[in-house]
Amino acid sequence: MSAAYAAAFGGPICITDSYRTYASQVTLYGEKPALAAVPGTSNHGWGLAVDLCGGIQTFGTPQYAWMVANAGRFGFLHPTWADPGNGREEPWHWEYAGS
Ligand SMILES: [Zn+2]
Repeated sequence: MSAAYAAAFGGPICITDSYRTYASQVTLYGEKPALAAVPGTSNHGWGLAVDLCGGIQTFGTPQYAWMVANAGRFGFLHPTWADPGNGREEPWHWEYAGS
């Protein structure tokens, strides 16, 4: 997916955060309980979620639009709970759902 993205934007997908150990989930939840998942339940803990940057982290950017248009081809999706208007907007958070 990153290679296809690079063909469009001239650089690879920027990743803020991917796999989180259980210990780091506990730490993050302690610091940001409103944003982080309850420890043990995060998709980051299963290695299935990534937090992206480089423009993808903002709704409405060309980079975000590219993800919406193309992520599905690579088995990635933007979860409904993180969509605009669903209470916890996280444009940067994408999950691998298989293909
Ligand atoms: Zn995330």
